[in-house]
Amino acid sequence: PFDVLVVGGGPSGASAAIYAARKGIRTGIVADRFGGQIMDTLGIENFISVKYTEGPKLAASLEEHVKEYDIDIMNSQRAKRLEKKDFVEIELENGAVLKSKTVILSTGARWRNVGVPGEAEFKNKGVAYCPHCDGPLFEGKDVAVIGGGNSGIEAAIDLAGIVKHVTVIEYAAELKADSVLQDRLYSLPNVTVIKNAQTKEITGTDKVNGITYIDRETEEEHHVELQGVFVQIGLVPNTDWLGDTVERTRMGEIVVDNRGATSIPGVFAAGDCTNSPYKQIIISMGSGANAALGAFDYLIRN
Ligand code: FAD
Repeated sequence: PFDVLVVGGGPSGASAAIYAARKGIRTGIVADRFGGQIMDTLGIENFISVKYTEGPKLAASLEEHVKEYDIDIMNSQRAKRLEKKDFVEIELENGAVLKSKTVILSTGARWRNVGVPGEAEFKNKGVAYCPHCDGPLFEGKDVAVIGGGNSGIEAAIDLAGIVKHVTVIEYAAELKADSVLQDRLYSLPNVTVIKNAQTKEITGTDKVNGITYIDRETEEEHHVELQGVFVQIGLVPNTDWLGDTVERTRMGEIVVDNRGATSIPGVFAAGDCTNSPYKQIIISMGSGANAALGAFDYLIRN
């Protein structure tokens, strides 16, 4: 059996595996797609100490760093079941069952798409998902935020301080965000809120030039000219496969303590699949390191 088996090969999983292997214990990493979300990222400007890099380049460095150690890498493999017996067992979709004294879940998350024409086409060409990452690219420009929940309104408030104008597009008749956030939003001079609006299309040529929505009351179609669209309708953790094993929040995020421990002894979690409030590369790497140290601490006590 492994001492530490990491499930997920994004920034948090790579970091957890390196921290574990540096303790000289038997470490493995299973990943559906090594690199994780950063494989879909173009420019990265907030990975501190690296002024600018690109996702695939950072993913290649992660893999190179992991390969410096005696880590059993199982790429292109999906975990489908976790069970705690004498060891923690992880069953893969290919039928193999891996056993480990401890497991670190780092299966990440994915942004929910609006699924309208133009969204996929203009990803990284005006369509963005992360205001902390891409907000500064839209300085002085007009943008829309799709989604009026807490994340959408937080994004709109954040962006309003950087861009020229923000249009919030909410499908329902009311914003769902907390009222303190709504109050703050409505106090800003450069924000317009459009409710009851169904996004129909993100338009553009080589990059985004506008958004078309349908007023759900009048069924009239409207077009707003702008250069950026932030989709903020939810970040879904990749944790469905865990069923009712480890405790998760209503949103499906794995609940961890400050050592990355979950509700099952010996099972730890890190990164975007957990209930950590902010989802960023540097944060997920930190939490991967934290969970690996948590797992090591568990191993020497059990
Ligand atoms: P992920 O990166 O999601 O990795 C999850 C890993 O788990 C992957 O290897 C995946 O294949 C694997 N996996 C999932 N399910 C299973 C399973 N059942 N079995 C086996 N393996 C599985 N952050 C920044 O700090 N700066 C940025 O500029 C930035 N830009 C971004 C741009 C985009 C378009 C996106 C989508 C995200 C961006 N982020 C950015 C966020 C950042 O990418 C994430 O916070 C970070 O990748 C989270 O790392 P993670 O390891 O927790 O999860």
